[in-house]
Order: sequence, then C-alpha cells, then structure tokens
Amino acid sequence: MTIYQNLIAGEWIGADATKNINPSDTNEVVGLYADGSAEDTKNAIAAAKAAFPAWSRSGIWERHVILKKAGDEIMARKDELGALLAREEGKTLPEAIGETIRASQIFEFFAGEVLRLAGETIPSVRPNIGVEITRDPLGVIGIITPWNFPIAIPAWKIAPALCYGNTIVFKPAELVPACSWAIVDILHRAGLPKGVLNLVMGKGSVVGQAMLDSPDVAGITFTGSTGTGKRVAAASLEHNRKFQLEMGGKNPMVVLDDADLNVAVEAAANSGFFSTGQRCTASSRLIVTEGIHDKFVAALTAKLETLIVDNAMKSGTHIGPVVDERQLKTDTDYIEIGKKEGAKLAFGGELLKRDTPGFYLQPTLFTEATNQMRISREEIFGPVVSVIRVKDYEEALATANDTPFGLSSGIATTSLKHATHFKRNAEAGMVMVNLPTAGVDFHVPFGGRKGSSYGPREQGKYAAEFYTSVKTSYTLA
Ligand code: NDP
Repeated sequence: MTIYQNLIAGEWIGADATKNINPSDTNEVVGLYADGSAEDTKNAIAAAKAAFPAWSRSGIWERHVILKKAGDEIMARKDELGALLAREEGKTLPEAIGETIRASQIFEFFAGEVLRLAGETIPSVRPNIGVEITRDPLGVIGIITPWNFPIAIPAWKIAPALCYGNTIVFKPAELVPACSWAIVDILHRAGLPKGVLNLVMGKGSVVGQAMLDSPDVAGITFTGSTGTGKRVAAASLEHNRKFQLEMGGKNPMVVLDDADLNVAVEAAANSGFFSTGQRCTASSRLIVTEGIHDKFVAALTAKLETLIVDNAMKSGTHIGPVVDERQLKTDTDYIEIGKKEGAKLAFGGELLKRDTPGFYLQPTLFTEATNQMRISREEIFGPVVSVIRVKDYEEALATANDTPFGLSSGIATTSLKHATHFKRNAEAGMVMVNLPTAGVDFHVPFGGRKGSSYGPREQGKYAAEFYTSVKTSYTLA
C-alpha cells in the first residue's frame, strides 16, 4: 500500500506510517499515512521560517491564483473528497460532501479577501506628519486540528494564514489525515513555493508538542479539546507567542411553550444527533418549558425512531458511526453515568450491529435531567442529549447560561420579545433562533466565549485579527 508522506520544504518524505481505519467498516484501511517525528517537525518549522521573508512579500495576485486554484479543485473533486472524508471520519456521505463544498468556499472567500487587503491613512495630531496603519503577517503559524471536521477546519485555518502572508506547519489529528493530505497536495500542485506549507502528520504528543516547544513558531491556531487547549496556552505564554483556541461546548437549545413544535423538533434532532453529535456546536442540553415539555419529548422521540444509523457510505443513512473505539467508550460511559445520576433514558443507549463492523450507537435521549448532572455539564461529544425541564423563559435563560462553555446557544420560539432578549443575553459566541445550534456560514465570525474559546474569532474578515499584527507607521512630510 502507498504511504501518503509528509511535505517538508517542498519534498514528500516519511517511511513510517499509521493505518487510517474506516469507523463504518473497521476491516477497511483507508490508507497508510506518515507518522512524523519531532525531528521532522523541527525541519518543517525551519523550512517555514526560511520561506517566510519571500512569501510575506509575495504579490497578492500570486496568492489569489493559488487560493482560487485550490478552491476550484476541491469543488471539482467534491464527490471523491467527500467520500474520502466519510470513510475516514464516519460522517454520512451527504454531510461529508457538504463539508467539502464548504472547504472550497473558504478558499474562494480568502482568494477574494487577499485582493481586498487594505490599511488606513490618517492625519497625525502633530503637523506635517502622516500616520499609516497596516497589517503584517505573523511569521510561521502552527496549525493543529481535531478529527471531527477533517477538511473544513484545516481549510479555515490554512486559507487565511496564506492569504495574509504567513507560512505554515500543519498537524492534522492522527485519526483523520487523508483529507488534510489531499488539501496539502492540492495547494502544493497549485504552485505554493517550497516551505510555505509544510504537513507533518503524526501524534499530538510528538508532532504537536514539538510545535508548542519551538521558539520559531510565531502563532498557534488550535481546535480541539479543552485539555490540549490549556497545554497550547501554557506553552505559548512561555514563548510570548500569539495563540487562538477553539475548544469544547455544551450548547443549550431552549424550547419555549410558544415554539413551533416541528421547527423545534427538527432543530433539536439536527443539532443533537446529526454528524453523530460530534460537532463542537452540537446541542446536548435541551431546556424545555413545562407547557410544551411532554409534547416536545414525544415528538422528538418519534423523530429519533425514524433516524437510520448505519454505514456512512450507505444511501439513506442519517447518522454514521462514532469516530473510534475510544470515543464510543466515552459515550457509553456517559450513558451509564446519566442512568446512575437519575436521568431517565427515554430513547436509545444501545450499541448496534450492522452489515459492516463499526462503532454504531443509537441516538440517546435522557429526560428528567438536571443542569447539575455531569451529563449536562461535561462535553460528551457523541449522540447523547439531555432534556432539562424548566418553569419559564427566565429559568430557561439562566439554565442555558449556567455552563462553563459558551460556543453556541439556541432558542425555539415564536415570540419576538423572547428571541430578541435571548440574542442579547445568551452568553455564547453564536446565537441561533429557530435553527439548530450547529450549522454556520463560512464568511462570518466563528467562535465562542468562556471555556469554549480564547483569542480572536476565526473565519470571514475577522480572521485577520489572528493572522496579522497591526503596525502603526509615522512619516514626516
Ligand atoms: P484533542 O485535543 O485530543 O486533539 C486536537 C489536536 O491536538 C489533535 O491534532 C491532536 O493530535 C493534538 N494534540 C494532542 N496532544 C497534543 C499536544 N500535547 N500538543 C499539541 N497538540 C496535541 O481533541 P480531539 O481531536 O479529540 O477533538 C475533539 C475536541 O475538539 C472536542 O472537545 C470538541 O469540542 C473540540 N472541537 C472544537 C471546535 C471549536 O471550534 N470550538 C470544533 C471542533 C472540535 P492527535 O490527534 O494526534 O492526538
């Protein structure tokens, strides 16, 4: 079997490899992917550092052409790359193709954005002096990504880093290297100079840690768990380096008595269970007022009965497998915790057998949960959702905000008054009214507050806040 190698200083290298296994069919090896070392990472950082002066001064048209070519090729290959994504991560094929299209759109957006780079010229408070405010690239950016969006998250970090003139060392999650390899291959062939984009696949504890320990990495953009995020933060402070963290969530969705029942059920089913509940924006706490509670639970349970859990590549599958055995164990452990804590298992909770061996779990709904239970406070990252009954809107809002996280927050209501109040008072980076808490646009800011995020927002023009450093220049006329 071919080994998909690391790209360091424009050369494909690496002889040791790790198997990439399909979670829908554990007999299938998706591919062999290089297992990089700390030495590889150091070489990649040195290559990115050497490439920075020329790339940071490269013309914006050169950058535009490369970003545009990448966006176009990803779109042209959306079915093939979507299938690769579905096979390595377990998202259903339509979800995986959707994510691939989004990656293409992100490259298209930053291909446009690079042509709109601008600064400000303003008068000084002193006579005969001009002031210019411009943005410089940071230098070498370390990119560390998680397994749950194998093509979109790499795209939303690589595209802006290149757009603003940075060079890159990129470490994807070891579980899902295939889409990352494909994006890097596309950008390499699109004409990126040697060393501008380096790919080092391998273990977080080896490759990721070597990035954290290097004084030559000027910025680290990280998406992943809170625990690893804290390590990134501590190491970055040590090196006085800029860093950006996108971490977990325990996103609430409030359902009020006046909600349209269909809208509420569709939004809850989507945000709680689609993509196997493995989205940082997934809604895992449904906070429901008394008047609609029983009707809502009955309708959501009926909806869950219709959802098909099966091989991600099979037509008709609504929910693919859990990504791997370790995550499956986490999910089933939390199901046991929920039962012991006294929540009522209203639906699911069982492992499923399908034609192909994989990590299949029924969508799982707990009712009679409280907001103090571990299943309501800790991120599970699987298709496990709790319903918390509350008296009224005020209690619902207080419960929604009573969490260490703050990524996305949703409400289902037909009341303009409550929707408006919720948008103003939800302690989250993103608020959704009558929509799933997951599912966002690619051209507007993405990120959260409290324990979910740290540093500037990602995506859209707000991405410049992280990938550049502001410079103020004074000139005597
Ligand atoms: P992890 O934190 O385990 O891994 C994230 C990345 O960090 C991986 O590439 C991992 O490598 C790497 N890593 C692990 N250890 C180190 C280390 N010591 N130094 C540097 N890098 C390291 O998260 P998961 O991959 O399990 O992703 C799931 C988590 O991501 C969930 O908590 C989820 O909420 C969060 N997430 C947040 C999003 C957001 O935008 N807020 C979006 C998507 C996910 P390796 O895989 O090789 O161990």
